[in-house]
Amino acid sequence: MLTSGWKTVSMVDVHGKVTFTLWLCGCNLKCPFCHNWRVAEGRDCLPLDRVTLLDELSSSSFLVDYFHITGGEPLMQWAELSSLLAESEELLPISLNTNLTLVGPMERLLKAEFVDHIATDLKAPPQELYGLPQEASKHLWELFLRGLDLVSDYGIPLELRIPVARGFEQWPWIEEGLKHVRTDFYVVLNPLVGAPLTSPRDGAWCSEHCWPGEEVEKLKEKLTEIGIKVHVNDFSE
Ligand code: SF4
Repeated sequence: MLTSGWKTVSMVDVHGKVTFTLWLCGCNLKCPFCHNWRVAEGRDCLPLDRVTLLDELSSSSFLVDYFHITGGEPLMQWAELSSLLAESEELLPISLNTNLTLVGPMERLLKAEFVDHIATDLKAPPQELYGLPQEASKHLWELFLRGLDLVSDYGIPLELRIPVARGFEQWPWIEEGLKHVRTDFYVVLNPLVGAPLTSPRDGAWCSEHCWPGEEVEKLKEKLTEIGIKVHVNDFSE
């Protein structure tokens, strides 16, 4: 299992919660704004030292709310992840940050009752934010919607993150995605940030579409109007 490391106590990975966060390598998407693209591409990754990880997880467990697994896309290594979760589920509730397009592996983990919380990005429009050809993006968006249905069917609490970009009409996609959410959830608006704060995969794309302005407030207003609880991450401060 390849990892780029873990952090024993983090206060920024799940809204309002303290987590022990593990980053797993690999990803099936190529998001142009991704600032974890080295992890997503499997660079700077090492085999997971499971014994040390579980040891540290055990000694930190009294301090944290969730064992949070992120990446990259953790479900790229779902078989090993499944066995890691089997070993760690007694220690802490588990939170998974996934792009929700690997529906089969997701369902296996849900069936095994390993997952207590999901965080996912609603990336809109997908043909822009997935960084893949149009047809592939369309297919992945359909899978994402199925992923939302699945999480709802299992009643898993959801942190629905929306990366806010500049220069796109994001609302129709958001509306479509929300129709598939039937579980306890809240929205976190993440304005996309680029240099100098991060080093995104595609700097040229980001100079055009990162650092949104009024888009953030507009989306917040629309979501609030329809009764959705919204938090905004302000990375510019
Ligand atoms: S933002 Fe997430 S889903 Fe997109 S490439 Fe990066 S790790 Fe993968």
